[in-house]
Amino acid sequence: MDVTVVGSCNMDLSTYAPRFPKPGETMTGHKYVVGFGGKGANQCVSAVRLGCKTAMVGKVGNDDNGNRTIDNFKSNGVTTDYMTITDQSSTGVAAITIADTGENSIVIVPGANLLLTAVDVTAVEDLIKGSKVVVCQLEVGLSATLETLRLARKHNVRSIFNTAPAQSGLSNDFFVLSDILCANENEAEMMTGLPVSDVAQAVTAIGVLLDKGCRYAIITLGEKGTVFASQENKKPTYIPATKVKAVDTTGAGDSFVGSLAFYLATRPDLSFEKALQRSSIIASISVQSPGTQYSYPWRKDLQPELF
Ligand code: ADP
Repeated sequence: MDVTVVGSCNMDLSTYAPRFPKPGETMTGHKYVVGFGGKGANQCVSAVRLGCKTAMVGKVGNDDNGNRTIDNFKSNGVTTDYMTITDQSSTGVAAITIADTGENSIVIVPGANLLLTAVDVTAVEDLIKGSKVVVCQLEVGLSATLETLRLARKHNVRSIFNTAPAQSGLSNDFFVLSDILCANENEAEMMTGLPVSDVAQAVTAIGVLLDKGCRYAIITLGEKGTVFASQENKKPTYIPATKVKAVDTTGAGDSFVGSLAFYLATRPDLSFEKALQRSSIIASISVQSPGTQYSYPWRKDLQPELF
């Protein structure tokens, strides 16, 4: 495999409305769309559409949403041999509201995702060992994420730890075992205890993340761009975002992470900065159309210079 993703699968139930409802308010929206989501699934689909061999390790319920999730992976070209189905819980769902500004708010019921644990990941050690890049996040049982990072380190496989959704009090092991840690503003704030809403603040926070032990730290700041630094070069580098008209920023971070996995796996000759620049271009394309996976570009629709 070029890229293996260990992570969550959800059905996204998206409501488009002029603005977010106030507490207790009932309001009318424009549109309702059911789509495929979950940070793990999104990152996996983002990577495979760019053209690399990609496998998903995840858990769904024994229900219609679970079957549709697996079919969706297959139709995108993702290897589903390592997906498991449980009778103990339903497939995860996410209730998403998207305002006219393009901002979103999300409530997730994780269901089967939380039943993905270290035992499931240990069972796919050979898959991880044979992958160029392994990606994980925090939307499944935490033991699954930690085991993924542990096995990747054991077999000298590059890992990307996407620290979403934001959590405080993560054990040191997550940081020490991460090759590349990728956080958005909220996550960076939660993990560092510092405000992170602009580039200058991200530059400060990057140092704190590196001190926790990851080899590379990345903070994404939406339309404000991306900042990264590494243990070898602690001086942060800023990558501006492409200026575009955002229609729906849901899943921009996942598009970015999946793209980064793709570039690291298929273009090891590229500098880390160039890989991030290209990932940021792909993510900026994804915010220009509605939907999450729906907005992720396919290789055939992209400029050859991006590959
Ligand atoms: P998340 O979805 O995890 O909150 P971000 O919003 O930080 O992630 O977005 C990830 C990356 O996607 C950014 O670093 C940027 O490169 C790109 N991106 C996000 N929103 C926009 C936007 N409005 N315009 C251009 N690029 C964007």
